[in-house]
Amino acid sequence: MLDFTSLPLAPGLQQGVQALGYTQPTPIQARSLPAILDGRDVIAQAPTGSGKTAAFGLGLLHKLDVATVRTQALVLCPTRELADQVAQQLRKLAVGIPNLKVLTLCGGMPLEPQLRSLEAHDPHVVVGTPGRIQELLRKKALHLGGVRTLVLDEADRMLDMGFEEPIREIIGKTPKDRQSLLFSATFTDAIREIARNTLRDPLEVTVDAPQEQAVIEQRFLQVDPARKQTALAGLLAQHRVESGVVFCNMRKDVDEVAGSLQHFGFSALALHGDMEQRDRDEVLVRFANRSCNVLVASDVAARGLDIEDLALVVNYDMPSDADTYVHRIGRTGRAGRDGLAISLCTPRELPRADVIQERLGAPLLWDRHVPAAPKAHAAPPAAMTTLRIDAGKTDKLRPGDVLGALTGDAGLSASAIGKINVFPTRTYVAVARDKAAAALARLNAGKIKGRSFRVRKL
Ligand code: AMP
Repeated sequence: MLDFTSLPLAPGLQQGVQALGYTQPTPIQARSLPAILDGRDVIAQAPTGSGKTAAFGLGLLHKLDVATVRTQALVLCPTRELADQVAQQLRKLAVGIPNLKVLTLCGGMPLEPQLRSLEAHDPHVVVGTPGRIQELLRKKALHLGGVRTLVLDEADRMLDMGFEEPIREIIGKTPKDRQSLLFSATFTDAIREIARNTLRDPLEVTVDAPQEQAVIEQRFLQVDPARKQTALAGLLAQHRVESGVVFCNMRKDVDEVAGSLQHFGFSALALHGDMEQRDRDEVLVRFANRSCNVLVASDVAARGLDIEDLALVVNYDMPSDADTYVHRIGRTGRAGRDGLAISLCTPRELPRADVIQERLGAPLLWDRHVPAAPKAHAAPPAAMTTLRIDAGKTDKLRPGDVLGALTGDAGLSASAIGKINVFPTRTYVAVARDKAAAALARLNAGKIKGRSFRVRKL
């Protein structure tokens, strides 16, 4: 098996690898590093936690000439948090390379210090978000003519956030003979398109299945049909989950169960196949941005659901076959985290439990105690609330514009703002629940990019 010492890494870098305590390369590193060090373009399907940062980090540092004071590597990231993490890891990997300057350039931070830093001298490596990099390029503060390595990190998220156009502009300012590395958790058509336009004869690397096997705890609870809704509310309150999915067998129950949970105080939403695409998108955005803590779904509607850390899956009804059961509960315990699956079972549904037991090959764990339901409106709501702005990509609105409008002078702190999703004609921004009224007032009173748009709380 390949280890780091057998790689032709620049000498200072072995020191960085050792300082970080890495001994064996992760699968993504083992498969991409030889090609990266060889100067080849790479497109890699690599989720967070796969070790992708060190893969491209070692590649770009390997080629770097510290004596040349020019920007030689550019890493584009979707968010400031990720850019900070990447820059931090690059600095650690580069402990054996003296005088290396790594600069992060992200939106939501004051522009002045960034301009001053760039004026002093060019950083060797720039890590940043596309909007701000584009702005600095237009101001002629940042020069990319010396870039030898370009990295698109979490490219799918950057596209989701509406950064496609700035990315194109930025790439156009880098030399054609650069090396390009693209990392993405998914390979969608849009990613393939960017890859076609950006990469030359790339090596394609995918690592499937998380390295760790997640443990899903499975429990069963026998309930009277008339007490299902209160039992469900009791379970959800007991586990205080931030993100849980409840599966119903019948579509008509989806709305009813979601309504009942709302009555108890949960931020519950319904998702079923009869909804318009637009409404489904909206529900999924609100679930992913944590302004909905319980999603009540039918099997068909949940098909496209891809949420990473789902803490709990509840079967409101016993699924009719073992495959559906395995599929439903497989949505929790992703990304190496442990998950919990609880199935409500009425006496009539007991034969279905037997089928599942047979499939699992082990006795099912039955809970005796049915937890009491919370009082009306007493259940914990979601941490965030979503505001909808009736403007989007077609209005050239970008996440940074919304963030800027909310956090500018005397505005909210950036920590109160969550995910921002920009669609062609609508934008959703998650804000901390207790700051929602202030955020709404601010957006309604002020302007975004000098224009007024209709904003409402969902
Ligand atoms: P990433 O996917 O780049 O966010 O990396 C996930 C975590 O794995 C980070 O904390 C890295 O420091 C760590 N890591 C990366 N490569 C290795 C390795 N070869 N051995 C051990 N840990 C690693």
